[in-house]
Order: sequence, then C-alpha cells, then structure tokens
Amino acid sequence: ERRILIAGNWKMNGLGADGGELAGALAARMKAAPQPFEMLVCPPFTLLSRVGETLSGSAILLGGQDCHAQVSGAHTGDISAAMLKDAGCAAVIVGHSERRTDHGESDAQVKAKAEAAHGAGLMAVICIGETEQERDRGQTLDVNARQVAGSLPDGATAANTVVAYEPVWAIGTGRTPSADEVQEVHAFIRAEIAKKLGADIAGGMRILYGGSMKPGNARELLGLADVDGGLIGGASLKSEDFWAIGESC
Ligand code: 13P
Repeated sequence: ERRILIAGNWKMNGLGADGGELAGALAARMKAAPQPFEMLVCPPFTLLSRVGETLSGSAILLGGQDCHAQVSGAHTGDISAAMLKDAGCAAVIVGHSERRTDHGESDAQVKAKAEAAHGAGLMAVICIGETEQERDRGQTLDVNARQVAGSLPDGATAANTVVAYEPVWAIGTGRTPSADEVQEVHAFIRAEIAKKLGADIAGGMRILYGGSMKPGNARELLGLADVDGGLIGGASLKSEDFWAIGESC
C-alpha cells in the first residue's frame, strides 16, 4: 500500500541547459510507460519553473529543497512554501543534514518548516539521520528517535509527510550501512512514528533511504520491508542512473 517514491535531490547543482536536459530525459521515459514507482525531482529554486514546464504532463512530481517557516515577510533570500506551491511544486525537502549543518537548523525549525509545507498544501520530505560520530558512539537509534519526535509535526499524515533516513556518513561517500542495518533503523523509525502519530499513520507513511544510493545497490535497499523509496543525490544527476534506480524496485 506504500507506493515506492524515487526522489532526486539535485542540491546546488544544475544550470538551465543541463537541468532542462535531465528533466526532459526523465519526462520522456515516464511518458513512454506508466511505472509502479512515484518519482519526485527537487532542483535548485532557480530551475523550478523551467524543470516544472519540462515535467508537466509526465506525472513526475516537482519539489523544492527547503522552505522558510513563515508564509511571507522580511526574510531576504528565503523562499516560502506558498511560493513553491505557486511555482508548481507538490513537495519540499526539509531538515536535510546539509541544512542542519550549514544553516544550524534545529528539530524545532525543521518541524516549523514541515508545518509550513503542510499549510501550503505541500508534502514534506523530512530528513533525519545520525552522524558518523553518533554512530560510533552507539547513539544511532537515540538520535533518530529524537529527530522523529522533534521534527515531525503533530498533524503529519501518511499523505502529507515522507520521512527520509539519511545516515550523514553515507551521504556522498559511497558508503552505506548494511541492508540489515538499514532495515533495523527503518523499522525502528516506523515504531517511533507509531508512538507519536499512531500505528495507522505509521503503517502508511513512506520512509525513504538516502545516502550513496545508486543502481548497483538500489535493488537490495528498495527490497527491504520498511524501505519505501530513496532520496538520491549524486545519482539523481544522471538520468540513466536515476531511472535505473526506479526500475530496481
Ligand atoms: P548522495 O546520493 O549523493 O549520497 O546524497 C544523498 C542525499 O543527501 C540526498 O538528499
């Protein structure tokens, strides 16, 4: 009942020409045949309208990589959830570890951003995950429990929220936890979501894995019982690789 979601986070990559080409290639493949998976593409803000036009009619969803918690106002350089919705987005990533690190975002801020996303009618893709130091200290489950408790709004549902488990040490490193470790953490996260939101919501909510997912490991990761898709960085920048990940589910 949880449809696999293949989400691409382009991060701070992509100028008009290459972004347009990448989106065009994905749109063409999606239009060619309906797929069992859902696909989401999150380009930088500057490419939202161009990529959105290219994807239109393809069933591939458009998303932002971050939003502000406020609806509008004096926040130079920030983008609101309503602006993303207006630009054609269906979703927004919040709480990515690069935001938490580069911009010092706390669980409370991430939760406020997710609430803003919901208020604007966007699906929030809420990122959590432990650092390498936390993992080495045996704190992986504690950290993810704290982030689930602190970052998910009380109004989160299976329809308006997706959780992405991204072990920070696996992002862009080529390293991943073992399949057993991924399944263990995902099952644990689902149990923590159940504690907070109830078993029904937790049972329907998608939990994505992110961190060095690529065509070579996607089949194993996407085949795990509590893995409901992927949040893909580097490999989402090549249409062949990103599409191959989708086809592995
Ligand atoms: P990589 O796929 O490049 O490891 O990035 C994962 C990620 O951070 C997606 O949000």
